[in-house]
This record gives sequence, C-alpha cells and structure tokens, in this order.
Amino acid sequence: MIEYRNLRVALLGAGNVGAQVASMLLEHGTELAERAGAGLELVGIAVRDPRAKRHAELPSELFTTDAEQLIAGADIVIELMGGLEPARSHILHALNSGADVITGNKALLATHGAELFETAEQVGAQLYYEAAVAGAIPIIRPLRESLAGDHITRIMGIVNGTTNFILDRMSRLGETQEQALAVATELGYAEADPTADVDGFDAAQKAAILAGLAFHTNVPLESVYREGIRGITLEQVESAARAGHVLKLLAICERIEAADGSEGVSARVYPALIPDSHPLAAVHGAKNAVFIEADAAGDLMFYGAGAGGRETASAVLGDVVSAARRHVIGGPGIAESHGATVTVLPIDQIVTRYSVRLRVNDRPGVLATVATVFAEHGVSVETVEQTVAHPDAELGDVLADAVPGESGSTATLVIGTHRAAEAALAATVTALAANDAVRAVDSVLRVEGI
Ligand code: NAP
Repeated sequence: MIEYRNLRVALLGAGNVGAQVASMLLEHGTELAERAGAGLELVGIAVRDPRAKRHAELPSELFTTDAEQLIAGADIVIELMGGLEPARSHILHALNSGADVITGNKALLATHGAELFETAEQVGAQLYYEAAVAGAIPIIRPLRESLAGDHITRIMGIVNGTTNFILDRMSRLGETQEQALAVATELGYAEADPTADVDGFDAAQKAAILAGLAFHTNVPLESVYREGIRGITLEQVESAARAGHVLKLLAICERIEAADGSEGVSARVYPALIPDSHPLAAVHGAKNAVFIEADAAGDLMFYGAGAGGRETASAVLGDVVSAARRHVIGGPGIAESHGATVTVLPIDQIVTRYSVRLRVNDRPGVLATVATVFAEHGVSVETVEQTVAHPDAELGDVLADAVPGESGSTATLVIGTHRAAEAALAATVTALAANDAVRAVDSVLRVEGI
C-alpha cells in the first residue's frame, strides 16, 4: 500500500457548500488521496455556531469558532464563508502562512481579487476559485489553462440561475416577473432579498472575474456595466418571442475597439434578446452556461448547474486535488495572468443591435418621423413591429401614411436596429423621447448573439 504524505485541510464555513465539501472529503478521502498523491486530512471546520444543524452528518469534534488557529496549522485552506470580511483577512493569513487557498467567494474576488492574487504571487502560494463562477461548471480552469494559448474575443454567459429561472418561467409559462420570483423564492432559488440576483450584482461580480481571466487584465468590479431584470415585463418577453428571440440576463465580456482605435475590453451585464437558435437560448430553469468565442478554438459552450451545495462542492474538491498535487510536486504557484494593458471601456463605446419599444400617437406619418430620428443619429432600422393599443384603432394606421388614425389612440412600435454604437443609440432615444409623435420610450433592449 502506498504511503502518502499527509496534507492538513482547514475548512472555513459549513453552510450549503461547506457541509457538502466536508462530507465528501471525509467520505472519499482514500480515493482523493490516490488522485492527489497526498492524504487529505480535514483538521477542522470554522463556523459561527458549532452547534447549528448542518446539511450533512459531520463529526462535532471538527467544529470550532477559532478560524485563525485552524488556518495557522493548515497546508490547504478552503474558504466557504462568503462575504468580504473576515473572509479576506482569513485568506490573506492563510496565503501568508504558506497555505494554498480555495474559495468560491465571487464577491470577494471581484472586489479584492487583485490584492489576494498579488499576495499569493509574492509568497509563492496558489489561490484556486473554480466554484466562484457558474457553480459546478468547469470554466475557470478552461479559461486559465486550456485556452491560455488562444485569443478569446468574447464571452457570453448565463451566470445567474435565479434570474434565468425567472425569465424562463415568464417565457415558457407566461408568468409575470412577480409570480416567477415567488416560485423561485419558494423553491429556494431566490433569497428573501433577491436584490443581488435580480439587479445583476451577482452576475456583474462573475463578469469581472471572467473578463479578467479571458483578457489577462485586471477588471475592477466598478468598471462592469450592470442592469438587472427588475423592469422586464411579460409583454417584453412575449414581444421577444414573436420576433424569434428569447430574453436572458447575460454577462458579456468582449474585446472592442475604442473610439481612438486602441484596443479595449468591455464587461457588462444586462437583459438581452438572443435568437431562438442561439445555444444559450436552450438554457432553461436555473441552469447556467458560458459561451466562449476564441480565434482558434471557435465557439465553445460550457453548461450545467450554476449553484447547489453538492454541485458546487464538486468544483471545490477539484481545486483541493489540484492544490494537493501542487504541494506534492512543490515549486511556486502559477501567478494569475493579469499583465495585459488593455483599458476597460465604458458602456457607451460598445456596438451592438437594439430593440426599441415606443408608444406613439397612432396617426399618419409617425413611422416616417420615427425613422428619420433614427437615421439622423446614424442608427439603421432593420425591423418594425406594430401593435395598436386602442381597441378600435386600425392596425396599420401608423405604417400607412395615407390612412388617418383616430385622435388620442396610441400604437406600440418595436423597432429592431442593425449594429449601432451605444452612444448613437442613446442619443436617438433621447431625441425620440423629446419628439411630439412619441408618447413614451417604453424600453430599450440590446440584441446579442447574431
Ligand atoms: P452559507 O450557506 O451562508 O454558509 C456560510 C458558512 O460560513 C456557515 O457555515 C457560517 O457559519 C460560516 N460563516 C459565515 N460567517 C462566518 C464568520 N464570520 N466566522 C465563522 N464562520 C462564518 O454559504 P454557502 O451558500 O455555502 O456559500 C459559501 C460560498 O460559496 C459563498 O462565497 C458563495 O458565494 C459561494 N458559492 C455558493 C454557491 C451555492 O450554491 N450556495 C455556489 C457557488 C458559490 P454558521 O453556519 O455557524 O452560521
């Protein structure tokens, strides 16, 4: 029988993910030792309340409230507490003590990642974070290692399961956002306060991490443009379906050209329309997927469970095995590749397609007026869909210049554009809102994946 060197593993947190990690480490220790080339001894679990009920049966003697003492004697520290502090301080302590660290904490990485990676590099330790983006889906390692020799041009990800679950129910079951959110809360997909998911904060943190990895640069969280799904109505979802589109909350990381011709990158989160035929359109329920476009590899898609205690524990344990192998082999950790000097550009520099929904006076000549406003701002119209809100109004009044419309009735125009600069589109929308023919600009949605 092979005698393995023993590595001491400290776990911080035993909640949804931590309890599963502990249980799997204890259950599959021997098997993992063979894969890692080292014994993995779980030496303790730091929590707030050692007597609290856990999601798995775990030996009570492992629990402690003294995280610092636990870290001091560990070779590998797994941080699954969440939040910024004390998680940040614990990770810094662990790295500075020579331990490799594994975390699933996207909020911490998106906020203090630069400091943590720098510390790891300085001390020759390694920080692993496969669980921080898209739960069980292997996406960090493919970006960091498998695609390190390629040139990634674009990433589009459905990286928040809660919002995908909500939008999917709106689209497939005709529920309102409130109804779908209530189901998500009941099933445990949404927190009591759904702000982090619904307003896109969670997806923005993941976009910052993905963009940094893909473009080998540091992407601060503040530079990620963010819009959530809060304002999305069933009407918009249904209108999207009529146009052969589906609405998804997307995290997009893209190489773009700045106005001065220099190379830049964009990281952004917003609800966007994608064609029914796009692979991301088939991502239903609370599932996640990340679609990558690379120069040599072409299009790649990674799909699976974006959350869940046991599912996420799979990603954490993969990192544990990698960390253990590194300890066995020795040598310094591989530094995060953040050396590229590309600027993160603001949202007004992106170029994409748009779907603009307007409420207009239902009278002759309005379409021509609206089309002129688009043309004046250099935005080319590709499609027009009209619905008449006034029950008595004739469909087509707005489109046919010669037919007089009823005074006071309104029509809804949904205008699809060709690719246009965000700044030009924003100017168009401002001009439309000020135009007498337009009663309201109801929504502006970007169209991606065409
Ligand atoms: P959770 O259920 O809230 O568990 C947090 C654990 O950390 C609890 O055991 C808690 O102890 C402990 N803890 C929190 N603050 C502490 C403190 N100050 N001192 C000591 N212990 C403390 O969290 P989770 O869902 O497992 O998530 C853990 C991490 O994984 C987060 O960063 C999250 O973003 C990430 N993640 C989660 C998922 C998922 O599906 N849940 C997916 C991907 C990534 P008590 O139990 O005693 O209160």
